[in-house]
Amino acid sequence: MKHDHKIKQFMKYLKMKHKAFPAIEELIQEQMSYILRTAYRKIGINAKVCETCAALEDDSEWEVKIPSEVKEDANMKYSVSTSAGQYECSETGLRWRSDTDVSLEYRFVDWESLHEDIMKNYKPCGPLMDITVTSGSLEEIHLPHFICYSGSSSDDAVKALHVNGSEASLKRCELTRSHAKLLNPTFSLLGIIAHIQQYFTMEFHCETLIYRNRISALNLHVYLILNDEKLKKDVKEKEKKNMEIVKPTPNKALKINKFYTLKTSCDSKINPQDLKLTPSKANFFDLYIQDGKKPIELYIKTKDKTIWEVNIESEEFSIHSPVCHQPAETAQKRESCKNCKGAEFVEKHRAELIKKVSLVEPIADDMKDLIGDEKYQIIFNSVTPQDRMRKLLGFLTTTKLKEKLYKSLLKHERFLVEDLQHSQ
Ligand SMILES: [Zn+2]
Repeated sequence: MKHDHKIKQFMKYLKMKHKAFPAIEELIQEQMSYILRTAYRKIGINAKVCETCAALEDDSEWEVKIPSEVKEDANMKYSVSTSAGQYECSETGLRWRSDTDVSLEYRFVDWESLHEDIMKNYKPCGPLMDITVTSGSLEEIHLPHFICYSGSSSDDAVKALHVNGSEASLKRCELTRSHAKLLNPTFSLLGIIAHIQQYFTMEFHCETLIYRNRISALNLHVYLILNDEKLKKDVKEKEKKNMEIVKPTPNKALKINKFYTLKTSCDSKINPQDLKLTPSKANFFDLYIQDGKKPIELYIKTKDKTIWEVNIESEEFSIHSPVCHQPAETAQKRESCKNCKGAEFVEKHRAELIKKVSLVEPIADDMKDLIGDEKYQIIFNSVTPQDRMRKLLGFLTTTKLKEKLYKSLLKHERFLVEDLQHSQ
């Protein structure tokens, strides 16, 4: 939409005035413009974003690019080619701007692989990335970070670390809410760091991720991690056999090395009771619910306040909503699944659907009545189509829901469905 940027500026102004504009609310209600609605949520109206730094949102347009992926050792290497413009990688959150055609290769690298002297006085504030420009050149690179930057922190606290072979140097960078901008960058290893003196006084954006054990349905893993794409990918890989329950994440930034406590509204066993928010580690609360027939509420608290609160409906962790056709299934279950060809398709092609469904909005609209408003909002609060589709699929815990999605895919993405069916 040509005037999208201006509309966003206008809405940002409205947001600062703490009120929504009735005519725009009406447009959203009537679902007249997907772009407008997405933009509206992106700037935080009706959305749960960190309250402290919401005003620092970078509101320029980043075209989302899906990179090619090649597995190299245990890590994924991404490559992408773009023409002049500004882009964001759907998998890593990396952003770049170029005035000419450019080809890039990049991957996540463990911070632990750096020589300990390099990080003696510094701590990571985002993923470490190994970036190579294979052709062309970049004007800007924007590295993802998880610092809650209120604008008041000292300029010198946060730097980009550049490591080339045995040489390490620090570069100035400009922070937006989620990224740090570097001009005319040079490459090899790049990551955002903070001096330890400031690091322990800073607050960081975090994510909660919930997984339901596929075999023992009343067992949930509740992760509290830094909002780091690499960590999130590690968790997703570790939990790929389990079912994600998608819920909003904390809308307040948290301090590192502090303890956070999980509480439930029902009888449960939680191990550990208190979890330390640790850099580069994906810690989780191992939660056993005693009675799966009632909805439950989960809270994460510090000593004096609740920092996160969600409801989980009983069907979201019900033993009766397993993935179809798993090896351990019974004849009875197989019988009940005989009409679930569509659900089977959705399960089988989950990864391709996340990658290839480009317009998630009309599909989410079809699903809205079944998944409810809260989940629908969460889907729209995700920035990339891949994230939206991932969230949507995460909500589909029953065969019935997956069947409904299949029908919607036939309506909106028939060619993709046929392609995938022929590839079987
Ligand atoms: Zn923040």
